[in-house]
Amino acid sequence: MSVKHVWGVLRLKINMNKIYLDFAATTPVENRVLKEMNPYFAEKFGNPNSLHSFGREARMGVDLAREKIANHLNCLTTEIVFTSGATEANNLALKGAVQATLRTLKNDQKVNIIISNIEHHCILDTAEFLTKQGVEVIYAPVDKEGLLKLETLEALINENTILVSVMYANNEIGTIQPIAEISKIIKKVREKRKNSLPIYFHTDAVQAVNYLDCDTEKLGVDLLSISSHKIYGPKGVGALYKKSNVVILPQIHGGGQEKGLRSGTENVAGIVGFGKAVELVSQESEANKRIAELRDYFLNNLLEKIPNIFLNGSLKERLPNNINITVLGVEGEAILLHLDEFGIAASTGSACTSASLDPSHVILSLGLPAEAAHGSLRFSLGRTTTKKEIEFVLEKLPSIIEKLRKLSPVKINKRLLKK
Ligand code: PLP
Repeated sequence: MSVKHVWGVLRLKINMNKIYLDFAATTPVENRVLKEMNPYFAEKFGNPNSLHSFGREARMGVDLAREKIANHLNCLTTEIVFTSGATEANNLALKGAVQATLRTLKNDQKVNIIISNIEHHCILDTAEFLTKQGVEVIYAPVDKEGLLKLETLEALINENTILVSVMYANNEIGTIQPIAEISKIIKKVREKRKNSLPIYFHTDAVQAVNYLDCDTEKLGVDLLSISSHKIYGPKGVGALYKKSNVVILPQIHGGGQEKGLRSGTENVAGIVGFGKAVELVSQESEANKRIAELRDYFLNNLLEKIPNIFLNGSLKERLPNNINITVLGVEGEAILLHLDEFGIAASTGSACTSASLDPSHVILSLGLPAEAAHGSLRFSLGRTTTKKEIEFVLEKLPSIIEKLRKLSPVKINKRLLKK
């Protein structure tokens, strides 16, 4: 079956009448992934922890997926811990590493962790949880472009810092952080450190996997989280890369699966699909180039056709599929509802927090006021996005905004355009 044909089938699944521009929230399961998973539901249904042939067959599926993921991340298979997704992987990384270190402390020694202030809520909330265990959390600010400056981070690290967690690419504005450069700083600190505390570096690479090199050796990270459903794999499965010499404590106890780091019978079909999805990522460089061109075309036209809007975050250091604009004088949610009437799916902020009407912490972190955050709108393109779809959105969106602006009591604050 040709690649073109596979994508044709996939497009039908999404539904031809609708336009999905929310690939950062989740992606459809790719046909080849689905095919690989299928036998593991009813045919190869064994428990991978059983010693008999049924179990061994399932174990082989899990092992092969582990190999594919380890291959992609350029690490050992023993360095992959399967989880239920990136939320769990991030919890395991932060709580696991911090709690393992806390166990070794003497004489009320104080420790801190550093996270960027644009992290996903599963990092922010886990860090907040750790404050209750006596850990200080230091927030590293990003600049108005949504980028973390190396000097800023370096100045925040001190002798008591045991973990730094900075996301590779942001889920709302798509900005890319200099992970390999940050690793060099951490390495330097580690080498010069006078006390016996470890300092680990974790990155949430969930949004990066489709587009950026996730070679753990090149990145120099100790811990890295990924999720299957953002890369055309099934939901409910993810993984934590944990470098061999990093000590973490499990957060789920039981049967001792995943070398004791994550108990619970493995989600075999999910893991098999995840492995295939990761394998397919490396074949997508052409598709990614096309996505980047389409995104640029979309963005340029948006900026040309709609007055009083601006792009949030750096254009240069940005995922090729992301657009996040602020539309002044209108609520992002109102635009979403109107787009939905035309079958167009976009987003404000991240899918996980869209139930909340609080202004996005990411947009606020750019130094913008709440009114700019309330008017933010994210379009994230994917492998199946077509120019025709983009043209349709470009046809509908300007009039939706014009109509909403006429009805809106909110005044357009032109001063924000110069920021
Ligand atoms: N981290 C980032 C950057 C994300 O975008 C998401 C999902 O939106 C997550 C973590 C959580 O991943 P999962 O849905 O696999 O728990």
